[in-house]
Amino acid sequence: MTPLTHSQQITQNPLLGKSEVELTEWVQQQGQPAYRGKQLHEWIYQKGARSLSEISVFPKQWRAELEAVEIGRSTLHYRSPAADGTVKFLLRQTDGNIIETVGIPTEKRLTVCVSSQVGCPMACDFCATGKGGFTRNLATHEIVDQVLTVQEDFGQRVSNIVFMGMGEPLLNTDNVIKAVRCINQDIGIGQRLITLSTVGIPGYIRRLAEHHLQATLAVSLHASNQELREQLIPSAKHYPLTALLDECREYVQTTGRRVTFEYILLAGLNDRPEHAIELAKHLRGFQSHVNLIPYNPINEVDYQRPGPHRIQAFVEALKNFHIAVSVRRSRGLEADAACGQLRASQKKADG
Ligand code: SAH
Repeated sequence: MTPLTHSQQITQNPLLGKSEVELTEWVQQQGQPAYRGKQLHEWIYQKGARSLSEISVFPKQWRAELEAVEIGRSTLHYRSPAADGTVKFLLRQTDGNIIETVGIPTEKRLTVCVSSQVGCPMACDFCATGKGGFTRNLATHEIVDQVLTVQEDFGQRVSNIVFMGMGEPLLNTDNVIKAVRCINQDIGIGQRLITLSTVGIPGYIRRLAEHHLQATLAVSLHASNQELREQLIPSAKHYPLTALLDECREYVQTTGRRVTFEYILLAGLNDRPEHAIELAKHLRGFQSHVNLIPYNPINEVDYQRPGPHRIQAFVEALKNFHIAVSVRRSRGLEADAACGQLRASQKKADG
């Protein structure tokens, strides 16, 4: 392997991601008074400082000495706004890798869809990110940076976070949990307004429950039986649907939080009323909520999105079994809405 040049290295031990206590320890190690830690915290998380030389409240001489210290922010590679206000960002990390982040505004909210990995190893058949392969986990600061970037771009406080960008968050559990704590405590977004979406990795939901986060767990089910799930999600072969659902039940018991089940609707494949009935039987008496996601077309496969009547029939079939259900509204369709699409089409355009 060729060694990375200095500018390509992943920033080591950057300041972003550290708490006020940790930043205070850091400034004290530099021979500065403790109150500089609070100032540093405010400049990083509230004022969006990208370099320490910007921090005008710090003494000039110290600022000059700090020039080489990295805060750990990404650079904007591409910005793609859609007519509905959604903005997709491609962000370049210090090692040159590019990730996708989306800002989704509604009347009262600004939601950020964050990535947890560069690419994804799960290779789900309907997913553009999965088609692109896996490169590496994101560091804590690279996750937190996405939230600050969207906040600054919109000039508005972010209200909600969904880990539904590139990657499988539970394969990067340690950094994701640190990022959730930072987003919660340092940026100030309530844990209940943060959603972790996972396809499910055996034993990992149990491990997550032990952290007693108040964040919402969303599980990508996408099928009402094992056979169908294996067709769509290769890793399902090693994780029976019943075992996944048992782990989710334990999660509800341990955390007291209900689980959301995501279910992509693929025309003619998993969208028939029988599928809804089969799904409802699995979820009877389960403190959960089903979020139906009409498929967002990607170039690599030719699944179809069902029409509105089909979607409504699926909703009604679930409601007959008293299952709480909602349909996700697609946002920013014209800008390669399915996650991983924009990065893939940009790569092509860049040659
Ligand atoms: N790896 C995690 C989180 C990333 S994907 C997970 O699997 O949950 C976030 C959600 O988008 C998942 O439910 C995923 O299955 C869904 N998704 C991926 N590709 C999609 C597409 N083309 N159309 C609709 N939803 C898609």
